Amino acid sequence: MASVVTLKTRDGGSTALAPEHLDTLRGKLRGPLRLPGEPDFDKARMIWNAMIDRKPALVVRALGAGDVIAAVRFAREHGLLLAVRAGGHNIAGNAVCDGGLLLDLSLMRSVRVDPAGRTARVEPGAVLGDFDREAQSFGLATPLGINSTTGVAGLTLGGGFGWLSRKYGLTIDNLISFDIVTANGALVTVTEKDHPDLFWAVRGGGGNFGVVTSFEFRLHPIGTEVLAGLLIHPLAKAAEVLRAYRKVVAAAPDELAVWFVLRQAPPLPFLAPEYHGTEVLLLALCWNGDPEAGKNAIGPVRGLGKPIAEHVGPVPYVAWQQLLDPMLVPGSRNYWKSHSFTELSDGAIDALVASAKSLPDPQSEIAMAQVGAAINRVAAEATAYPLRNAQFIMNVHTRWDDAAKDRECVAWARDLFEKMTPFATGGVYVNFMPEDESLRSRPGAYGANYERLSKIKAKYDPENLFRMNQNIAPAR
Ligand SMILES: Cc1cc2nc3c(=O)[nH]c(=O)nc-3n(C[C@H](O)[C@H](O)[C@H](O)COP(=O)(O)OP(=O)(O)OC[C@H]3O[C@@H](n4cnc5c(N)ncnc54)[C@H](O)[C@@H]3O)c2cc1C
Repeated sequence: MASVVTLKTRDGGSTALAPEHLDTLRGKLRGPLRLPGEPDFDKARMIWNAMIDRKPALVVRALGAGDVIAAVRFAREHGLLLAVRAGGHNIAGNAVCDGGLLLDLSLMRSVRVDPAGRTARVEPGAVLGDFDREAQSFGLATPLGINSTTGVAGLTLGGGFGWLSRKYGLTIDNLISFDIVTANGALVTVTEKDHPDLFWAVRGGGGNFGVVTSFEFRLHPIGTEVLAGLLIHPLAKAAEVLRAYRKVVAAAPDELAVWFVLRQAPPLPFLAPEYHGTEVLLLALCWNGDPEAGKNAIGPVRGLGKPIAEHVGPVPYVAWQQLLDPMLVPGSRNYWKSHSFTELSDGAIDALVASAKSLPDPQSEIAMAQVGAAINRVAAEATAYPLRNAQFIMNVHTRWDDAAKDRECVAWARDLFEKMTPFATGGVYVNFMPEDESLRSRPGAYGANYERLSKIKAKYDPENLFRMNQNIAPAR
């Protein structure tokens, strides 16, 4: 016999819901409503970062905007703690709550491309690989991240950058419109002209303003191949190579992005076995543009130092977007720390290289994305995403499997973060913030845009229904 379900409320208390309440909700849903132990309940609540193991009391597995509206209204009506999950990749784990209602969007994965108009309509459960594959059927793409299993929704709401961003901007710079269910349960279509305050706020303000049920993106004709690959240097030469690297990338055209990673070398087939497991500097480059021009443009990168291995050539864009997937599978423990930089000083390079000598686990790495170019041609106040002055974004990507190593691994990340603080801008990419960094949201993640965001939050979500995120408090 069905029994009463106790759920956490937003005020920190709890409420007991009788079976009739759940039946009423169930009657409004197209997708399943799940209780602990029922099919796919765990699938919905498990996320990429194994450090986060939260157990909601109820899961709505939405199949459309109607289900989202029903779940949001139900949460509001009963004062429930609500979490919204898309790809489940966010390191902080805000996609899931303990004891509350989980609105799982991961079944809403459709992507519809309009090749003539060069646009795509994407549902919030789609992952980057879904979007890339559909768009690439027509030689099209929009800038997304570098791991194909990341969710389009969370990535977009925080900004979104990847290999194409220096040429075409952030993911949000390519957002044309979206549908969002706001805290009052209304579905609103938002464009630059309709609800311009929401259009501004959602582009970098995360999930603070409602649940996005559909995104419309602009696409670019990039063809189906990029010129891309890896160059590997021993750690002993890393400081020297990075000093030269910063000059080379400062002169790089928009079509070229060169990221670097300090880590132990994986057993790559093109790397001599004696280097496997040793600390190395990996330069990862991607040219999207005319292939002949690309050969010249990547010359200065290939000319840096004496690489111990090189694997660069034409590669299908979809394959390049999946290159790092094997190293980023779900289920490991992860703790990240991030800074942004306008330049890489000698001191910053030396601190990075020194920390790479004491990596706490073979899976851990220090990654540096080269951003700038088109991203920075948008004013910092034009969207809620404020890091328009950054040339580099660091992700101290600490990753391990054994819970007994938690303290050591977290301490290593924090130590490197502290050492890099004097060289950093003070801004942080909201999508790279771990669970314990909520106080950094203001000003770090939202910068000078915070006050405006807070006023818009007060207009659309005065009771802070959407609080499982890097939260923006409603202005009082
Ligand atoms: C392996 C890996 C690689 C990454 N690489 C990149 C990269 O190259 N570039 C980059 O920019 N970022 C990158 N990221 C960061 C990524 O952008 C964030 O983790 C992002 O939040 C993931 O989105 P998601 O939908 O998978 O996450 P989720 O954890 O499902 O959601 C993240 C947050 O967004 C909220 N949310 C999700 N969907 C909605 C919605 N439809 N409406 C309202 N709120 C919603 C959730 O409540 C949660 O607070 C990477 C992350 C990982 C784990």
